Amino acid sequence: MKTKTYRDILKWGDKREQKIDDATLKVIKEKFSISDQDLASKHLFGDTEVKLEKTTSLSEEQINDLKKIAGSENIFTDDFSRANFSYGKYYSELLLLRKEKIPNPPDAVISPKSHNDVVKLVNYCNKNKIPIVPVGGQSSVTRGLETPKGGVSLDMTKHLNQVIEVNSVNMTAKVQAGMFGPAFEEHINKLGYSCGHFPQSFEFSTVGGWVAARGAGQASTGYGKIDQMIVALKVVTPAGVIENKDYPSNAEAWDTFPLFVGSEGTLGVITEVTMKIKHLRPENTRYASFVFKTFESAVNAMREIMQSEFGKPHLFRISDPDETDIAFKTKGFDEKFSNKVLKALGYTSGERCLMFVSVEGDAAYAKFVKKKIKKTAKKNKGFYIGGSPTKNWLKQRYSSAYMREPLMDLGIMTDTIETAVTWDNLINLWKSVRTYVYKRQKVVLMSHISHVYENGANLYFTFLSPMEIGNEEDDYKQFHKGLVYAIHNNKGSLSHHHGIGRVLAPWMKDAVSEEVLNAMQAVKNHFDPNGIMNPGGMLGLK
Ligand SMILES: Cc1cc2nc3c(=O)[nH]c(=O)nc-3n(C[C@H](O)[C@H](O)[C@H](O)COP(=O)(O)OP(=O)(O)OC[C@H]3O[C@@H](n4cnc5c(N)ncnc54)[C@H](O)[C@@H]3O)c2cc1C
Repeated sequence: MKTKTYRDILKWGDKREQKIDDATLKVIKEKFSISDQDLASKHLFGDTEVKLEKTTSLSEEQINDLKKIAGSENIFTDDFSRANFSYGKYYSELLLLRKEKIPNPPDAVISPKSHNDVVKLVNYCNKNKIPIVPVGGQSSVTRGLETPKGGVSLDMTKHLNQVIEVNSVNMTAKVQAGMFGPAFEEHINKLGYSCGHFPQSFEFSTVGGWVAARGAGQASTGYGKIDQMIVALKVVTPAGVIENKDYPSNAEAWDTFPLFVGSEGTLGVITEVTMKIKHLRPENTRYASFVFKTFESAVNAMREIMQSEFGKPHLFRISDPDETDIAFKTKGFDEKFSNKVLKALGYTSGERCLMFVSVEGDAAYAKFVKKKIKKTAKKNKGFYIGGSPTKNWLKQRYSSAYMREPLMDLGIMTDTIETAVTWDNLINLWKSVRTYVYKRQKVVLMSHISHVYENGANLYFTFLSPMEIGNEEDDYKQFHKGLVYAIHNNKGSLSHHHGIGRVLAPWMKDAVSEEVLNAMQAVKNHFDPNGIMNPGGMLGLK
């Protein structure tokens, strides 16, 4: 039998090993003075067999009871299964796996067969005070899946992964929460629809996880975040089952179902999601790409476009000068003749910025909005470079994240952090984060804006830096803490779309205020009086 290793768990996405392409490798070697000899060794590769020190703390009677509910074939207490559900994909979690450290695995992994199984499991665990962590695609980057108090990890993906109903009249789809993005999209594509929600983790994340972590897809500027895409939820809480009707809107006092959007498993288990769906019309989509002279002028153009009320793009991104330079280098554009032309026109390396745009929907609408966008870009000295750069970017929209493991194998810390900010503070926040990050020696920081609104946008930072060998965890922790403070002290939100989990929980009181946190705790106490739902420091809750 094939050995089950730590690497099998930590590897993001496609389990095949990815290579860093030559152009990217060249840039990394230059930036971090990595020699060919360094390239040959693999740092903390994690290819040893998983062994846990902690055995399950559930009694034999409890395991038998749980088997009676979900079926013995759906309960796992072996080392690999429990280890496999111990962490998500946060950088520190990956380091711990590479170091073979799993101090708090779940006591069991259970794959419920149906909504009714979930109801019975939640009731049983509530009565017996056994913690439950709902688990989707395990792509959490906020330590949202850890089980510091043991208990049961509820794998929603094995059975609860079907489309229940597509309503073509209302243009909605009711989906089981454990359905992965591609399976959902494929199902509705065949009927002429698209879900419109494409996070970078699309291939390996679930509909329930999108809602629970309150995520955003890459076309969110046009379609909205998941908050705007759902019309109803079915949630199993220890206090009972909550289900909303799919009215387009209503005024039945205040709305309770947004409480579960962003609840990150702390209130209950989402079993069904009803989502709005869109017409699938890729032939109508218009693409545009621009180069701007400075980040400021690109941001101005972006803001004007969002506030002009002529329609919105769907994909809308700006890369800052550092991210733009790396994109030009790794795509071989630096050597091209067109680069010489750009330089001659004053679009110089170190200052210029790329903008990518797509407009979807009705053909005439897409054509009209693109025309208006081009006009606004031109006014801000944006140089139009055609649709191809955006199309090429879309081709690698998911796979660029596969570089994380090969980079960590080289001993390179690789992580991201993101925030939301109003327009009047965006440049200040961007500069403040850059000032903080560049205090570290040997660091690459790439920033972009990828989710845009009338009153502001997100800022997304990707950083790479050599690990402090032997002190990898602490070095990262300190660096990351400073980053969160750089964002928080400069009035960025704690998160725009990754959520809070356990990573950002310590800042919650400061960010949302004590009163709001108390209100959240009161809601938690109502739905989960015994504190069994994803306990242990989530969202700053007790
Ligand atoms: C490479 C990479 C790229 C990413 N890009 C994006 C991006 O572009 N946009 C974005 O929004 N996010 C992104 N993320 C973060 C992550 O993918 C999202 O938060 C995603 O929505 C999580 O879905 P999941 O199914 O993997 O959930 P999981 O990781 O399994 O769970 C996430 C949280 O939700 C809870 N949960 C999961 N399912 C349920 C349920 N059925 N009921 C109740 N609670 C539940 C869990 O307890 C946990 O707290 C990225 C992550 C990675 C690793």
